[in-house]
Amino acid sequence: MLYLKSTHSFILLIILTSCFFSLQIAAEEEDSIYEKRMALYKKTEALTQIPWYYIAAVDQYERQIYKDIEDNQVISIRIEPTLWFGAGNDSNTLNAIELFNGIGKDGNGDHKANLKDGEDVLLTMASYLQEFGHTEEDIKIGLWNYYKRDLTVQTIKNTARVFKKYNDIYLTDRDFPVAINYNYSYRNTWGDRRGFGGNRIHEGTDIFADYGTPVKSTTYGVVELKGWNLYGGWRIGIRDIYNIYHYYAHLSGYEEGVKVGQIVKPGDVIGSVGSTGYGPPGTSGKFPPHLHYGMYKDNGYSEWSFDPYPYLRKWERMAKSN
Ligand SMILES: [Zn+2]
Repeated sequence: MLYLKSTHSFILLIILTSCFFSLQIAAEEEDSIYEKRMALYKKTEALTQIPWYYIAAVDQYERQIYKDIEDNQVISIRIEPTLWFGAGNDSNTLNAIELFNGIGKDGNGDHKANLKDGEDVLLTMASYLQEFGHTEEDIKIGLWNYYKRDLTVQTIKNTARVFKKYNDIYLTDRDFPVAINYNYSYRNTWGDRRGFGGNRIHEGTDIFADYGTPVKSTTYGVVELKGWNLYGGWRIGIRDIYNIYHYYAHLSGYEEGVKVGQIVKPGDVIGSVGSTGYGPPGTSGKFPPHLHYGMYKDNGYSEWSFDPYPYLRKWERMAKSN
């Protein structure tokens, strides 16, 4: 019996140890992909004088819009083959690309512009932007010429500002949107029918709490919208560095100084819980105080609502363990 017991604990020890090491390996791999990316962004900056945080923000933006990105894929920017090679050309030699007015460049020094090579792709993108100049305004114009979509340009510009401010691309912290040392309750109400304003479905999770409970940013991002709307009352919208728009509604008020364009991090207080909305500006008290929290994903073409509940559960656990 004793023998069995110790065998068991020995096996358990082996299992635990190997779990610990595989977790550690996974974490180290994650660290190293961020390090690899950062090294490539900085190298591209050195070659083009386009600041690394813009190059990083373009890559980050594109990583969110494709469904078939591999976990270990270092660079995610994809450039149209016709633009890369030049119309009518399919050779990746620099001479041919130049002859056919393609934009493909050789970043890794193999004398070929390879559409699938991260360094070649980064140098090509940064060289494209460089044509428009190096100031913030020039880069904005370059991005607009490339993507031809205002929201895309704004998302990339704001992500670049976040990367620059924190001097990092490894920004994976999260927080729960309501201060967890206050009383609150929530359940999954996503998709429920809503009476006010016709047949709407409920695009978010309601977190019930007392008036004045602090409301916090859940992510790194930039304040995109602030003010009154008919349903949401006093609300605030923050777009994070993953092309996700976070919508906080029914606030009783805003934290002092919060304004559109401001960079926020997880845990920054942005306002407090209230019951505003369902009427003209200032309408309040038509329902119990709660935070309505919604999440919207943008894929470069359109935006859609998805269920924030599983994320809230996860961030609540993260907040409690901190
Ligand atoms: Zn709601």
